[in-house]
Amino acid sequence: MTEFDLIARYFTRPVAPGGWVRTGVGDDCALLDIGATTIAITTDMLIEGRHFFPGTDAAAIGHKALAVNLSDLAAAGATPRCFFLALGMPRADEQWLAGFSAGLFALADRYDCVLAGGDTTRTPTLLESAPAIADTHQGAAGAAGPLTISITALGEVPRAQVRGRDGAHVGDDVWVSGSLGGAALALAVAQGEAALAAAELRACRERLDRPLPRIELGIALRGLATAAIDVSDGLLGDLGHVLSRSGVGAIVDWPAVPRSAALRAQAEDVQQRCALAGGDDYELLFTASTGSRDAVLAAAQAAGVEVSRIGRIDAATGLRVCDAAGRPIALPFAAYDHFAGGVR
Ligand SMILES: [Mg+2]
Repeated sequence: MTEFDLIARYFTRPVAPGGWVRTGVGDDCALLDIGATTIAITTDMLIEGRHFFPGTDAAAIGHKALAVNLSDLAAAGATPRCFFLALGMPRADEQWLAGFSAGLFALADRYDCVLAGGDTTRTPTLLESAPAIADTHQGAAGAAGPLTISITALGEVPRAQVRGRDGAHVGDDVWVSGSLGGAALALAVAQGEAALAAAELRACRERLDRPLPRIELGIALRGLATAAIDVSDGLLGDLGHVLSRSGVGAIVDWPAVPRSAALRAQAEDVQQRCALAGGDDYELLFTASTGSRDAVLAAAQAAGVEVSRIGRIDAATGLRVCDAAGRPIALPFAAYDHFAGGVR
């Protein structure tokens, strides 16, 4: 069962009209119409060993825990307003908490996003339940047991400019911000599948540990982007969500997919795997009409982010990646999925 099958089967229910919820499960944010305002809400959980390496710098964890949520707000074009934090820790380690909260609030303050509430709890240590396993699982705080961070973030969008994953039209351009594959390359190096010089590895680790949510771009694209999603699971998988929600297909021009110099120096198959199927980049992937090209470029410039036109929306369903000559490339991988091959 894939993560998406699991959500579809057990947690997707019809939304009754007339209530608060305009869009529910299945998009980057839920959209609630309350009076004249639309509120975008998203929740994301990070678990040590699953979403970040044990021993990752506490400030980076604080940053990333909020960043991944703000990235969903960016996809919806929302202005961040506040967030809630639920923290499960093996023990209260003050040094770790000081670092975590510093990283968290540095990003929150940048977007005037207020911590409005939450909950903290102690996770049972593995020592209490399974002493044999505890020996091999030392957490970031130096204690056994998984560190778990869940954040729910709320933002605001003008009602007339709300967008989700379902608005891509045949003929629209497909765009992406920044560059792709840097975070996946850092993971590939950590797993011994690629090698990088120290300075390049630091830059890629920065992409993995401290992704920058594209809030300014998300807001600048209000009224321009017909659909948007943030690239959390990989370009092809995330574009696939837009295509299925919009009922269209797409052609992606591989040479136009933006990659860092460090990634371009890797073998072609590593480049394709990292830039097309690698997650954790948190760039914005969006569609816009061909008539909006100049306006999109101006919006990106105003937001201080580069954007690349990487393909177009097509009437034929499915997703094709083509080379410089327009020939389809066969790709031997799928998008990242937490539950593929069983719950891990
Ligand atoms: Mg998302």
